[in-house]
Amino acid sequence: MDYNLQGKVAVVTGASRGIGESIVKQLDSHGASVVLVARSENKIEELSNSLKNASLTVPVDLSEEASVESIRAQTINKFGKIDILINNAAVERNEPAHKVTAEAVDETFLVNLRQVFLLCSAFAKELFATQGSIVNISSTAATGAGGTQGAYAASKGGLNTLTKNLANEWGNKGVRVNGVAPGLTDTEMWESTFQKLGKDFVKESFVKRVPMGRWGTPDEIAHVACFLASPLASYVTGQTLRVDGGMTNI
Ligand code: NAP
Repeated sequence: MDYNLQGKVAVVTGASRGIGESIVKQLDSHGASVVLVARSENKIEELSNSLKNASLTVPVDLSEEASVESIRAQTINKFGKIDILINNAAVERNEPAHKVTAEAVDETFLVNLRQVFLLCSAFAKELFATQGSIVNISSTAATGAGGTQGAYAASKGGLNTLTKNLANEWGNKGVRVNGVAPGLTDTEMWESTFQKLGKDFVKESFVKRVPMGRWGTPDEIAHVACFLASPLASYVTGQTLRVDGGMTNI
């Protein structure tokens, strides 16, 4: 399937690994020029160098106030426009609610929600001009968390609400805003849980909640994000699509 992204400019946060890396590769393979955002400068440089279309790296820490304007300014300076914004970067601080620290709550809300809103807002004028689209990478945790994920789940719940609100507010500007809520996806985000509980145990016990009986891959999440960002989804807005092998059906 061709997503018809030739000539489009896409900004992807959290581009250095996992789901973000897959999104970057797929956008590029469908013709888009990609702006790669993450803190790991070497990793995004290496990925950028492997792409076939023109690309740009913006190595910033999204928790820093100035990062939003830096991403906007560098994107417009290099490409003169933006068509697609994929808000994928997130932190998951797995702390039990009775021991949670203010610092963990603040960082989670800052990176996963506040800066996402401000980045959408910063690019609004340019997205209106291109009739662009936004995809926010959420989580199934937003709608029914398990474990010790209070701050993360609440940040993703807020993100789903933001997705709907921006879709309503910007629909008449021709800007579509959607989300993808991945289920169990094998990436580095799980590393601390694997280390704490054992990788085999986590992979085997968690998969029991998934009707399809397996974990998802970053590529399977990226395909849906690229579809929603693309003109093929031209009449879809305000939706957060769960990509979880059926986990949240049961
Ligand atoms: P990951 O492997 O941990 O990658 C997270 C990405 O976010 C990295 O590229 C990281 O880059 C970037 N990032 C984190 N904090 C940042 C900051 N302060 N500034 C700039 N970049 C930052 O996670 P993933 O599994 O690919 O997750 C991608 C998205 O899917 C997230 O929104 C996550 O909530 C969601 N999700 C994942 C799963 C899953 O099972 N994996 C399930 C549900 C939802 P640097 O470290 O280089 O900065």
